[in-house]
Formats: sequence, structure tokens, C-alpha cells
Amino acid sequence: MKNKTISTLTAETLDPTDWENLRQLGHQMVDDMVQFLQTIGEQPVWRKPSEAAKQHLQADLPQAPQDLTDVYADFKKHVLPFYNGNIHPRFWGWVKGTGSMQSALAEMLAATMNPNVSLGDQGAIYVDKQVIEWCKQMMRYPAGASGMLVSGASMANATALLVARNAFDAGVRREGLQGRASQWVVYASTETHSCIPRAVEMLGLGTDALHQIRVDENYALDMKHLRERIAEDEAAGLLPFCVVANAGTVNTGATDPLEEMVAFCREKGLWLHVDGAFGALAGLLPEYESSLKWISRADSIAFDLHKWMYLPYGVGCVLVRDGDTHRRAFEYSASYLMQHERGIPAGPEGQSNYGLELSRDFKALKVWMSLKEHGIDKFRRLIRQNIQQAGYLAERIAQMPDLQLMAPAPLNIVCFRYNPGSLNPEELNALNKEILMQLHESGIAAPSYTVLQGSYCLRAAITNHRTTTADLEVLIEAVLKIGEKAARLEAAEV
Ligand SMILES: *Cc1c(COP(=O)(O)O)cnc(C)c1O
Repeated sequence: MKNKTISTLTAETLDPTDWENLRQLGHQMVDDMVQFLQTIGEQPVWRKPSEAAKQHLQADLPQAPQDLTDVYADFKKHVLPFYNGNIHPRFWGWVKGTGSMQSALAEMLAATMNPNVSLGDQGAIYVDKQVIEWCKQMMRYPAGASGMLVSGASMANATALLVARNAFDAGVRREGLQGRASQWVVYASTETHSCIPRAVEMLGLGTDALHQIRVDENYALDMKHLRERIAEDEAAGLLPFCVVANAGTVNTGATDPLEEMVAFCREKGLWLHVDGAFGALAGLLPEYESSLKWISRADSIAFDLHKWMYLPYGVGCVLVRDGDTHRRAFEYSASYLMQHERGIPAGPEGQSNYGLELSRDFKALKVWMSLKEHGIDKFRRLIRQNIQQAGYLAERIAQMPDLQLMAPAPLNIVCFRYNPGSLNPEELNALNKEILMQLHESGIAAPSYTVLQGSYCLRAAITNHRTTTADLEVLIEAVLKIGEKAARLEAAEV
């Protein structure tokens, strides 16, 4: 009876029945992707997803098999043409990176090895740890610092704030927040990215525990207001424990007064965390050293590698200056995760001691390969190039009577608008929103937008290694042309 069962077991697998066929299809995919990326500049920045594509992407769970060649054809028809745009030389929306073909190949290598980069004596862990060491060197952090690669700066910021909270009161890990946290306060400027209030929510403190500090005319945190607010809160019996500084705000690229914040937080015994999602990388440039070297004095730093290191999504990094404090915030032991003297579990310390994730992908490989291929100096030059391009754009805007610079552009972000001079504030906002939508729909260029002091602005955030000066000229010309036409239409309607 037993033997009979065994003899009738099937031997199915997901591996292909015809490896040679798969190899050919794989080669085709590489050829297609190289062609796609090599010629992306000739394509529109963006295409609206077709109705057919949207319909295809609402089909029910597949029951029957389909040839992989056909699945790939579906991808080429319904997904690939409707790229987000950030791979294109004329994309400067939000803060997005561009990626590269080399890194796409690295992703294939990582996915083929498919390691779980959590623990074990395996190559991928050593790569992961080496990349963290390189990140520490980039940020001039001391040898005793620790870090973790995560999905992006949102997770990196949240991880750092969890460390800050657990460092403030170690009892919270066992006893929770009940009865102890109602007076804890985190501080950050009004220009701080939305992921910070979300992280404070996740800490269990609620967004009321995030006290927002005014900014000055350069959109940097007002140090005087921070001091006053903290003094007031202390007098009222509240317990400040953490200050978040911005190195490069998302709206305008402003940097908070880091040197003063470092000194103040030291004096008060407050945890200083820096959200340097993209701006921290400018610290690699000697010309930004004087302002950004203070990042290395912060207790923790969050930054992205998928923005200004031009890597594919999703990879960000959190660093904590004192590795022991970092470990104490997350360390856990479980019988099935113990380190051994030999065998696979003899590897280095598991990464789960430094964050919330256990199973982790091999995102470190694309970082490792890219840094080895290009060397850090290449990234310095590319970051500098983007900053100079922003300076060029700001200058050209200042020269144009119908264009108006809307904020200082200290880094790589330029906020501006079309302003023919004859319109009221509401009309100007509507006109510039219309210009933005037409830029996207025409596929000419893709800045994004923000609202500064009630004014709708076009916003170019340049973290793009494919952009040239000519691309910026295309943007200026298109804004003027669309603006004139839209303003004429608006005037005709009135
Ligand atoms: C992009 C950004 C974030 C969030 O990072 P993600 O990688 O999108 O999670 C946080 N802060 C700033 C300043 C950013 O620009």
C-alpha cells in the first residue's frame, strides 16, 4: 500500500521543460530592454495607460497556463509602454531616481541567487554588510555605527525613530506605551516629509506628539522657534526626546541649521535624526562639506539609494551612530534563528537585530555592483552635475520676464511658475496647474508641482543622470509656449 503511494507521486516543478527555449527568451528580453532604455529619450516622457491595458490588468486569477512568450507579449503591450517616466532624460518629478541597465542586470543576478539576506554563512550577507560599511564611509560615520538597507527613506526614517524611542525608554519594548508615553514629543519643521508624521503614528505616539517648527524665508527650520517650543513644552511637563532635521527638504531642497541643531540636541540630551533622503548625498561633495558634515554628528541618518545614487527601486539606508543602541532596539532571540559554530547558521550576526524585517531580498547587490563599477567619484560628479543643472534652470527662469522663481534653489530643486503679470492668484494657480498637466499629457517633460505659500508651483527636482542642458531648454520653451496659449484661452473665456 505504502509503496504504491510512492510510485504514483508526481514530480512537478516550476523549472522549464525546455531550458534552451527559456535561454532564448531570456536573451530576447535582454535585447529588448537594452533597446528600450537606449532609446528612451526618443519616446514621450509619459503615456497615459490605455483602456485596453487597464482592462487587461483587471482580469481574474489565471486558472490555466499560458506560454511565457505570450505572458511576455502581454507585458510589452500592456505594461512596458506605460512607464512612470522617471527613466526619461526629461523627468524631474517628485524625487525619483533613474536606474540603469547595469543595475537591471544586477537585479537579475540577485533574483537568480535568491538568497534570504537575514542570516547564514553566505556570500550575500557579506555583500550586504560591506555595502553598509560603504554607506557609513559615505556619511563619515564612525566604525561603531550600524545600519540596514530597507525599501526606502520612509522605512529608514521609521526605523531610526523606533531606535530613538526605544533608546529614550528601554522599558517600552516589554511594557508598551501604556501609561508612559503621553508626554513624549518629537520635533520637526513644517517642511518635513510626510513620512515623518506617519512614522510618529507608527511609534504609537500619534501625530499630536509631533510638534512642527516654523521655517525661515529659506524654508529651513527656525532655530529660535525650536528652542522656544521645547522650553514651553518642558515647562508644561512634556518630555521632548527627538528632533528630526532635514538635509534637503522635498519641496525646495532646503537644509535645516544642522550645526546649531547638533549642538542644541547634545546640550539637551535629545536624539537628533537627519532625514537626508536625497540631500545627504550632496555631503559627498567638498563644496557642501561645511554645511553637511554635521550630518555625521547626528544620532541617526536616513537616506535613499534609489534617488540620488540612481539605483533601481527600492533601496534606502538607515544608519545609527551607536550600533549597540541600534541593536538594543530590535534584538530578539528565537530557538530557530540561533547562530551556530559551523554550518549555514555560523554566519555573521543576523540583520534582523537592526530592523523589523526578517526575510530580506538581495538589494545590496545592485548597490555593490554599481559602486564597484563606477567608483564613488563618478557619483560625486553626477550629483554635482544635477546641482549645476538646477542652478542653470534657476538662472534661465530669472532671465525670462514671464517666468518667476518661487523659492531659493540651494540644491537640485527649482520651484517656479509661468506668470504673464495680468492674472490674479487663483487664475495663476489654475494656469500653472493646466501647464503641468499639458506638459505631462504631451509627453514633452515631467516636472511635478507643489504649493508654496498658497501659490501653485511647477517643481523640477533633478536626480537624473540622463538629463542634459538641452533637455532643460525644452522644458523652458514648452512652459512658455503652453503658458501663452493657455493664458490666451483663459482670457477669451472671461
Ligand atoms: C523621498 C523622500 C522621503 C521618502 O522616501 P521613500 O524612498 O519614498 O520612502 C523622505 N524624505 C524626503 C526628504 C524625501 O525626498
